[in-house]
Amino acid sequence: MRWARQRIEAAGRWMRLAAGIVGTAAIAGAAALYGAEPGGESRGGAGDKKERKIYILTDLEGASGVYKFAQTREPGPLNEQAKEYLMGDIAAVVRGLRAGGAGEILVLDGHGSQAFVPHLMEPGAKYITGLPRPGHPLWGLDESFAGLVIVGQHAMMGVADGVLCHTQSSRSENRYWYNGVESGELAQAAALAGHYGVPPILVTGDEAACREARQFFGEHCVTVAVKRGISREAAVLYPFEETRKALEEGAKQAMKMIGLAKPYRLQTPIQAKKEYLLFEGPEKKPRRVVKEGVIEDVLKLLEF
Ligand SMILES: [Zn+2]
Repeated sequence: MRWARQRIEAAGRWMRLAAGIVGTAAIAGAAALYGAEPGGESRGGAGDKKERKIYILTDLEGASGVYKFAQTREPGPLNEQAKEYLMGDIAAVVRGLRAGGAGEILVLDGHGSQAFVPHLMEPGAKYITGLPRPGHPLWGLDESFAGLVIVGQHAMMGVADGVLCHTQSSRSENRYWYNGVESGELAQAAALAGHYGVPPILVTGDEAACREARQFFGEHCVTVAVKRGISREAAVLYPFEETRKALEEGAKQAMKMIGLAKPYRLQTPIQAKKEYLLFEGPEKKPRRVVKEGVIEDVLKLLEF
């Protein structure tokens, strides 16, 4: 067990190094640490899906260069620029996935106010944006996909070094527990994909989001950090040239995890708890509310 843990930490360190400084050589090292083999198709599970379709879920808060809510909440020049940063991260990941052998790639705009900039779409993928989108939250995802990639993700609400950390709503400070385990957006998205047997193979965001990914998904989900949080709206930013290189290499590496990575599944019925702030009265004074209940269908997770 101890060895296994060291392996996870070592692998994480490699990817962090790759994101910050080193690049290709470090990620080749990570491949050896993970014990991955190129083309895991023969290992069964999702790896058997010949096409190697990949689903990418994106968010804005965990993109390179994004560190304050003024960039993510209100429309304006800062928001437009932040959206361009995200598109750059997505482009690097799409290039890496394709170089790693991905077939069809679907990219979903997961940011509340939507964050895609159409003229910056990297070729080789299809991009889903705009609201509302009837159906379940990961529109277009089904059993035919071989892996889930989460780009630009933030840590769950309340993480001290989580850049722009929140779970669903940053204003009402929502927190969620499923079967007793506090879960952020990473676990929520992976649980939805887990319903279809699709495993998380790559998570990108700040160091705290990457740490959360390793805790929930284990060593076979590659993580690439693009910044390190100091507090909720302060960060050590890594230069774009370095993060984009690390994202591309990380995505290539993640393709090798298909067949090794395990879907993240929540056992149903799910015992659920939610805490949030309710703003009431003429002064809109916040009051903390706790809701408890049972979720029978994983696909209805976000309706709780
Ligand atoms: Zn989010």
